[in-house]
Amino acid sequence: MSLKSKHFNYLLIGGGMAADQAAAGIRSIDASGSIGIISADSDAPYARPALSKKLWVDPDFTEDDTDLQTAEKNNTTLFLQTQVTQIKPKDHLVTTADNKQFSYDKLLLATGSSPQKLSGPASDLVVALRSKADYRRIRSFSQTHKHVIVVGNGYIGNEIAAGLIQNDVHVSLVISDHRLYEKKFPLFLSKAYQQRYLDAGVKIYPETRAVKYEVTDKHVKLFLENGTILKGDGLVLGLGAQANLDLAEKIPLSVDNYGVIVDEQLKTSVHDIWAAGDIISYPDAILGRQKAGHVNHAIKSGYTAGQSMAGAPKTYDHTPYFYSWVFDINWEALGHVSSSSTMYAEKMQHSDGSVIYYFDKDDYLQGVLLWNTKINLDHYRNILKKKPQLAVLQQIVPLQKV
Ligand SMILES: Cc1cc2nc3c(=O)[nH]c(=O)nc-3n(C[C@H](O)[C@H](O)[C@H](O)COP(=O)(O)OP(=O)(O)OC[C@H]3O[C@@H](n4cnc5c(N)ncnc54)[C@H](O)[C@@H]3O)c2cc1C
Repeated sequence: MSLKSKHFNYLLIGGGMAADQAAAGIRSIDASGSIGIISADSDAPYARPALSKKLWVDPDFTEDDTDLQTAEKNNTTLFLQTQVTQIKPKDHLVTTADNKQFSYDKLLLATGSSPQKLSGPASDLVVALRSKADYRRIRSFSQTHKHVIVVGNGYIGNEIAAGLIQNDVHVSLVISDHRLYEKKFPLFLSKAYQQRYLDAGVKIYPETRAVKYEVTDKHVKLFLENGTILKGDGLVLGLGAQANLDLAEKIPLSVDNYGVIVDEQLKTSVHDIWAAGDIISYPDAILGRQKAGHVNHAIKSGYTAGQSMAGAPKTYDHTPYFYSWVFDINWEALGHVSSSSTMYAEKMQHSDGSVIYYFDKDDYLQGVLLWNTKINLDHYRNILKKKPQLAVLQQIVPLQKV
């Protein structure tokens, strides 16, 4: 039986921030072409980073404020709660789990990432935070004085722990490392960062892993590798996320260890298909072939892909940054930021801020971290682009080994 298909000039698969910006990129070139967005999510595209930050600490900022207004701003047609299961590039056809069919002239794949889970039964009391629906579930079990267990030493675990404790929720934070963010920050910053959590009342369980959980009547029991059993009113997992590459692999698009391989204009290996956001392996202008699971990358790559799709190909030459903020600490990072590198700090005058420079084993600059300091990132992009050696940078910037 042949299905009647809906046709769009531009069909965007995924309803995240990359797709939202792709629609804006298309509209900057093509005012009238039809744009369809198919999203498995039940909510229209929204600002994802707010789910673990602003929504918890700014009472004037509501869920409505996270709405990106993709349909209204860029005249797109949204299909929510719709999972794409197959793409046939020769026929320019897309099929969904509920057996709908769509045809396209040009297609964007922006399926983003899914959070890692832990073995245990599905329950409303256990959330691997990714979506707005996840945020609502955390809200429902984390009223004042409840006890929520958070697992993970990445930005999701750290941010949600900070958000919850500022809502008078008791928080236990389980991390496999010795200290918060010790793999990213130099010792003095990792210590200062962790102290902020301890001062706020977060109970940290270091150097152990969550093994499994059980859900009993209105409670969750979390079993740690070191034998400890934690009992809470809810459990939030921040165990990292994996790019959703199933569809891409099924087509098949060329994929490497980073994700869907795209060129400078974000075109994939298959005619009339572009990709953007978390799922891509792209040629970064400074860092070489990369992936980036960051919002700045989703926004910029999405916009550039949209322009390319609309017939005005642009080179994606933006090296994205990553940021986070908790309590009164904010930081931004560019390039490779790992505490296993050689690190030097530049102390900011007139503030408690610092800039940390990360050098590879041959003393070449490979990453920069801005801690509690707001300086135009393009300044550091330009420095990173030149890939100076430590000795050269030391002649220009007063640096102290950390
Ligand atoms: C809580 C949280 C906080 C964050 N905070 C920060 C931060 O502070 N700084 C930062 O840089 N980054 C942050 N990030 C990461 C950032 O939000 C992501 O890198 C970015 O949103 C990725 O955008 P995307 O459009 O590529 O993918 P996503 O936003 O993951 O969107 C993918 C979309 O595709 C849909 N989809 C997937 N498969 C299918 C399918 N088969 N059919 C139809 N639809 C499908 C999904 O439902 C989703 O709508 C955060 C992420 C989370 C979860």
